[in-house]
Amino acid sequence: MLSYRHSFHAGNHADVLKHTVLSLIITALKEKEKPFFYLDTHAGAGRYQLSGEHAERTGEYLEGISRIWQQPDAPELLQPYFDAIRALNRSGTLRYYPGSPLIARHLLREDDKLQLTELHSSDYPLLRNEFSKDNRARVDRADGYQQLKSKLPPPSRRGLVLIDPPYEMKSDYQAVVKGIQEGHKRFGTGVFALWYPVVLRQQIKHMLRDLEATGIRNILQIELAARPDSDQRGMTASGMIVINPPWKLAQQMNTLLPWLHQKLVPTGTGHYAVNQIVPE
Ligand code: SAM
Repeated sequence: MLSYRHSFHAGNHADVLKHTVLSLIITALKEKEKPFFYLDTHAGAGRYQLSGEHAERTGEYLEGISRIWQQPDAPELLQPYFDAIRALNRSGTLRYYPGSPLIARHLLREDDKLQLTELHSSDYPLLRNEFSKDNRARVDRADGYQQLKSKLPPPSRRGLVLIDPPYEMKSDYQAVVKGIQEGHKRFGTGVFALWYPVVLRQQIKHMLRDLEATGIRNILQIELAARPDSDQRGMTASGMIVINPPWKLAQQMNTLLPWLHQKLVPTGTGHYAVNQIVPE
């Protein structure tokens, strides 16, 4: 039984980091003409109503996307991400937040392909409806980890895989590493982007140690913390692990993170970092 619903968290500081990185990777992949494949293993509902009961109850987006949306000094690098948000909010008022599949849908080209999987019985039909008229996309109610075996390598031999589980179960911290290992074995040249929350730092240290032990090369870690690490309940930070990152990504995030951190965390607590944890 899945209880996690992303609608409670859509547009929070972790989504801002994840979707900024996602939009930069997609933008980099578009620099080559050859079409590519986007696999979203844990896709969510696709669109989130920020005035809806779930988002209003937590108010997380107010400390996330609301703080950076429409800032006059926003760096140019954020424009692809903001464009995807604008596409859902034509009136200029922020009413809807696009999840990863809608950000990809907005940024991908006619010949690129999307494969989206979502297991939740309420979110899957919402996602399927979003894409009912998009013939670039295939939407399945299926286990995302399984897709890393069955859908890779893609026929185009170019692609990006986003792995974004809820970490509802402790086993997710091991499952993501095993899934990446399976995916990388089949598609070693693909870009793999894994999102993680920092709830207990020790869990992330173990996950990274396991990932490094796979022998996979060229791994970048990007992290943004709103608060220092803590052993109390709750997420203090989040990060993205990117395997085979586009060559400009580290430099782009080094440019963006000071601005993002300043806007998202006006009190200045926490930290941000970009580290190449395994070299090429
Ligand atoms: N990627 C989305 C985005 O950025 O907008 C958010 C995804 S949310 C963090 C995680 C989603 O994974 C939830 O909607 C949950 O129902 C779904 N989920 C949980 N376990 C899954 C599994 N084994 N396979 C596919 N989806 C799963």
